[in-house]
Amino acid sequence: MKKIGVFTSGGDAPGMNACIRAVVRTGIHHGLEVVGIVKGYQGILDKNFIPMTARSVSNIIQQGGTILKSARCADFRTKKGRKQAYENLKAEGIEGIVAIGGDGTFTGAEVFMKEYPDINFVGCPGTIDNDLYGTDFTIGYDTAINTAMDAIDKIKDTANADARLFFIEVMGRDVGFIALRSGIAAGAEAVLIPESKTDIKELVKTIQAHYDRKKSSVIVIVAEGDEMGGAVKVAKKVSKKFTDLPTRVTILGHVQRGGSPTAAERVNASWMGLEAVKALINGQRGVMIGVVNNQVVHTPFERAIKYHRYLSPTLLEMVKILA
Ligand code: ATP
Repeated sequence: MKKIGVFTSGGDAPGMNACIRAVVRTGIHHGLEVVGIVKGYQGILDKNFIPMTARSVSNIIQQGGTILKSARCADFRTKKGRKQAYENLKAEGIEGIVAIGGDGTFTGAEVFMKEYPDINFVGCPGTIDNDLYGTDFTIGYDTAINTAMDAIDKIKDTANADARLFFIEVMGRDVGFIALRSGIAAGAEAVLIPESKTDIKELVKTIQAHYDRKKSSVIVIVAEGDEMGGAVKVAKKVSKKFTDLPTRVTILGHVQRGGSPTAAERVNASWMGLEAVKALINGQRGVMIGVVNNQVVHTPFERAIKYHRYLSPTLLEMVKILA
């Protein structure tokens, strides 16, 4: 293998730059040419290729976002689009690609590799949601939970000044990892996640119990994908039972996607990027690089896409006991 490409695809996440930097520098270290592909699969179709040097990735390890941009690409979902992508990659001489993205990105790579077996893809899990099977953490997750925790801490400062009921919505369309971890880290009184059914009566009881124990304010974290429909809807239902208490709703939104990556994020993203290049050099294809119990694990795309990560019920128990 002489030439590889690297791209970021799907939702952007802090730490992607650290991963790109590791891919570029590991590739160069092993004598490969490395090409940056701008805007994921769309960049392959548009021939948006940038030759990368070690200096192209200087001073980016601490930056959020992704210098290679990210995009969703409808044309890559078609046979015609993938044929064009193959022709563009062959013309550029790219034999292997490190794809940094989520399950959609790996699904695209899997479909493509079945049609064109002479191009190898290896994946690095890039998504703040931490919802990919085959790794203890995805790139972006640690920074996102720290960002959410910081925001909850700030709300807690003002919450302590006067009795109010706070609902804070964090990201997590299908999973509650961000909600649970940031909620536990910031000492929230309740956390609502898609993985467990939300019972409004129970929630009202929990909130009441906290006020009975003389808490001045109560903070409820709601994952955006909670089946009750997010913080605004939950607040509307619950506030009917606490008419003498002002209710405040905060939706953290895209702040969770940005920001300088944490130290753990930078190290892990760098590690995954380095391992992805080593995997390509060793002839591996169609695997996602993950870290499980501090060991590098290669999970076939098929499994990473098919299976789900489950939250430990102990985390929910922690919220109940420790709040
Ligand atoms: P996130 O978890 O942040 O959404 P993702 O990688 O899952 O990230 P998607 O938008 O689902 O993001 O997928 C990224 C791109 O992968 C799509 O825009 C499309 O180009 C390609 N892709 C996804 N599914 C397929 C598929 N079945 N066939 C071909 N290409 C696909």
